[in-house]
Amino acid sequence: MGNDPGPDHADDDAFRISAAEELVGDIDLDPFLGPRHDPLAGPLDSPIEIDTSGPPLLVLRDLLCDERFPEKFSRALRSVDPDFREMFPRDPGPVLREFVRAMSWALETTEEARGDQATVEEVVDFARHLGADHRKLELTPAHHQHFGEALGSTLRHLAGRAWDDRLQTTLTTAYRVLSSALQQGAEQDQGPARVGATVVDVLRPTRDVAVVRLVSDVMIDYHPGQYLSVLTPYSPGVWRRLSPAMPSNPAGQIEFHVRDVPGGALSGSLVRGVEVGDRWVLARPLGLLEVDRTEPYRDVLMIAGGTGIAPLRCLLMDMMRFGENPRVHLFYGSRYPGELYDLPTLVDLAATSPWLTVQPVAEEADDPWWAGPAHDLPRTLHRRQLGTLVDVVTRWGTWADRQVIVSGSPDMLRATVRGMVAAGTPRENISFDRP
Ligand SMILES: Cc1cc2nc3c(=O)[nH]c(=O)nc-3n(C[C@H](O)[C@H](O)[C@H](O)COP(=O)(O)OP(=O)(O)OC[C@H]3O[C@@H](n4cnc5c(N)ncnc54)[C@H](O)[C@@H]3O)c2cc1C
Repeated sequence: MGNDPGPDHADDDAFRISAAEELVGDIDLDPFLGPRHDPLAGPLDSPIEIDTSGPPLLVLRDLLCDERFPEKFSRALRSVDPDFREMFPRDPGPVLREFVRAMSWALETTEEARGDQATVEEVVDFARHLGADHRKLELTPAHHQHFGEALGSTLRHLAGRAWDDRLQTTLTTAYRVLSSALQQGAEQDQGPARVGATVVDVLRPTRDVAVVRLVSDVMIDYHPGQYLSVLTPYSPGVWRRLSPAMPSNPAGQIEFHVRDVPGGALSGSLVRGVEVGDRWVLARPLGLLEVDRTEPYRDVLMIAGGTGIAPLRCLLMDMMRFGENPRVHLFYGSRYPGELYDLPTLVDLAATSPWLTVQPVAEEADDPWWAGPAHDLPRTLHRRQLGTLVDVVTRWGTWADRQVIVSGSPDMLRATVRGMVAAGTPRENISFDRP
């Protein structure tokens, strides 16, 4: 595995960030994610052939990376503790693959550290960060113990006769360090692990977007640009990340913009089913998007696709508190002009913020019959540009002197970051939350 960030970006320097950056910066190994299927299906089979002569941490990593690990581990978890059956109501495959990726990185990094304290501390910090996020799952010490037992029995099963005392001791030590760091992270984290919230208003500005306004039982003190893990009644047990579209406030008012992703586990049922009075659960804020206000200010380029506008609008609203701001150039794009549902709000923001310029972008010149309604926008607004966001943005230059913040679907993020780096924007100037 090495530091390979995965097949999606393996050959592409532009999008590549180190595995450590990716994992430590923003990870959410949420065991509730994923589409339905029966994880208990399929027979148990024979141990794999592994070379156990190498360093034990790397042998454990190789066992974890066996393609059969997620399914077998999921069975072991469910049989060792019935609570895990509740926590994994759907196919845990995607989540367990994330677990494998994170564990492999931790084992590899620890091995490569060869005792270097700073590197080992980075691994432990990562586990603490993860533990803080997992408070929303309300795990007990018994869950951690049972998780470790299931992990041990699965790896032993996969190794068969190759399993020896050396592997057992290494696993026991590694898991003890991991689970203590997870529990430490959970204990040290501030604020409530979960907060209830009531839907107070729902708008449906386009056929596949819902703007949902809620009031939370307790104020959640998120930073502008951060996102929250959200559990809703429309797809039980499915946590998803959503970005508030307005800053945190003492009244607990929060607005989310949700787009129906076809075939997705939650978004379609949420967009179609959400109603005033519904109760949601919101968990700890995460994410690193922010405007750097270090003086002298560096101008900002923001690029938002679809509901990716939510966290950027939140950042803009927060900036309105200040008398002085860096200049912000916002490109806001969608496929059809009528899908630029948040333009009226952005125009209002720009009207009172001389530092803000809004540039609408659409891939198609005309709306299909179902799009709209067409917004009556001021003539002072920049004329809409035609093309994909990345094409339009790079047509204007390299933006090499800007801090660049990108938000949108996984495909949009990938295309935009790659395209901008190819056009000359330094990669380190671009920030985005990992999809
Ligand atoms: C940091 C962060 C913040 C987010 N904020 C928002 C937000 O404010 N509003 C919002 O609508 N969504 C947001 N998302 C996406 C959201 O978390 C879900 O992934 C999305 O709603 C799809 O969930 P699902 O259960 O319907 O689909 P899933 O079952 O999770 O996914 C189905 C497929 O769709 C892909 N997919 C996921 N998101 C998108 C997308 N936006 N466009 C196209 N394909 C996608 C997945 O990669 C997967 O292949 C955010 C995601 C992240 C990581």
